[in-house]
Amino acid sequence: MIHIAKDLSDQSLPPSLALTGNYRKSQATQQRRLAVIRDGRYPTSNTTNYDNRYRYEDIKQALNTLYHQKCAYCESRERRLQVEHYRPKSHYYWLAYSWDNLLLACSACNGLKKHEFEVRGRRATCDITPGSEAFGLLHHLSEQYNTREQPMLLNPENPQDAALFIHFVFAKDGSMSSEHARCQHTITTCGLNEERTLRLWRGKIVEKLRKRLNTIVFRSTGAARMHRIKEAIEDFIAHANDDDEMYLAFRRYVVMYFLSALVNEVMNQQEGATV
Ligand SMILES: [Zn+2]
Repeated sequence: MIHIAKDLSDQSLPPSLALTGNYRKSQATQQRRLAVIRDGRYPTSNTTNYDNRYRYEDIKQALNTLYHQKCAYCESRERRLQVEHYRPKSHYYWLAYSWDNLLLACSACNGLKKHEFEVRGRRATCDITPGSEAFGLLHHLSEQYNTREQPMLLNPENPQDAALFIHFVFAKDGSMSSEHARCQHTITTCGLNEERTLRLWRGKIVEKLRKRLNTIVFRSTGAARMHRIKEAIEDFIAHANDDDEMYLAFRRYVVMYFLSALVNEVMNQQEGATV
């Protein structure tokens, strides 16, 4: 999970989510928004007409650009990423069409998370009435709610949550853990340590680097070897800084904690073999 800075200004709001104006799609969304607030719940059957409003193309496109077509939680790229509600619409129905509540998630994370949303304080209830000041702030309420009910699940768009990402600990095999309660909760809720998928894919990143270094050490010597090793390190760092790459949190962790040790390990192995 990495920090994603979402621009919440009116200019960046996907047009179909606008609270006012004559745009046909935003009016359709506004109708559903008013309906769920009036009914005091998000419908549980015949939801297509409601669901389609947060799946409008402009919303998907804005999220895809922001997230570089990767899941907000696990950073996997998937062809059909889903628009996901950080605060589930089953309880927070009035936030079903709020820009600061819409994230992008893969089917695995979204499927595991479902309607889970544990909070430490008192869970927020709807205090919005159409036309009120709070109604006008519907795209900017997360910050307010975060202090009131203290969610356990980390939100990649929340800078305070992003400050906790340093508590995620990775191993070279791609597994992850944490001593921090909220990080731990996020790993469990979204299955971020899934052995057969995520852990394996992340582990392959280190394996690939190790293989490349091994080949260099095996095939070259002296200045040429040093040059090629430097190139491999620079390449790895460049990928760790490329927003289009998957698993950036892990790649950056490798750069910080494993990279130099890995190079030394490979070099020493070769020296040991030639003695
Ligand atoms: Zn995911």
